[in-house]
Amino acid sequence: MNNRRRRIYEGKAKVLYEGPEPGTLIQHFKDDATAFNAQKHERFEGKGVLNNRISEYIFSRLNEIGVPTHFIRRLNMREQLIREVEIIPLEVVVRNVVAGSLGTRLGLEEGMQLPRSIIEFYYKADKLNDPMVTEEHITAFGWAAPQEIDEMMALALRINDFLSGLFLGIGIRLVDFKVEFGRIYDPDGQVRIVLADEISPDCCRLWDIETKDRLDKDRFRRDMGGLLEAYSEVARRLGILVDNPAPKPSGPVLVQSK
Ligand code: UDP
Repeated sequence: MNNRRRRIYEGKAKVLYEGPEPGTLIQHFKDDATAFNAQKHERFEGKGVLNNRISEYIFSRLNEIGVPTHFIRRLNMREQLIREVEIIPLEVVVRNVVAGSLGTRLGLEEGMQLPRSIIEFYYKADKLNDPMVTEEHITAFGWAAPQEIDEMMALALRINDFLSGLFLGIGIRLVDFKVEFGRIYDPDGQVRIVLADEISPDCCRLWDIETKDRLDKDRFRRDMGGLLEAYSEVARRLGILVDNPAPKPSGPVLVQSK
């Protein structure tokens, strides 16, 4: 069925197909997980289904509070209809607690609460390993205009506040997350910045408040096992797995590893 549709783009965990109307695309969630710039790669049967549902839930709630997103509606277990946007080539990371590359770079202890939320920008370029960049680089190279940077930062902080509360309510600490933004060109010539891509345990760090259990992709990065169980637990706590039983994990399928 997928063969009839024109494939616009294939990434590590998602495929974008041409949508049913101009200005729309279909975002398909795959089961692949990659880390360390795709040097590590495994397939987890059912991950795509979980991320589709979790991202749908989060984008819908964000739409409801007035955060503009590319999300239109979910189409099926693995796909959603989205607005076509011009992706801004930046990964916007928001951090509340020290983890991952921040701890390594600055020699800080993992788990330390930050004095305030920190926003970082990374230039989306796999060949360069997504280097961290400053607003100076972003404006000098024309990746985004100063007012677009302000807009992305304001949206990122609103998303952080909303998600921190949402997850706190279900016993989860939002440690950090990554978002991407895109531009929509309105017919009247206005350019709007909207949240694009996905928000799922693939791009967040989610720690159980009681047990400190990792409920995110660190389970894969650190070979901890139980990735599908963790993602299912997030979906279950969000109340979005009532009709569909959690996919039965058949164990990760090794595709390639280094
Ligand atoms: N992240 C992501 N995609 C990337 C890099 C990071 O989704 O290409 C997310 C990651 O899951 C975490 C946050 O951004 O929630 C911060 O990641 P960090 O800079 O600590 O990098 P990592 O330790 O994952 O290499």
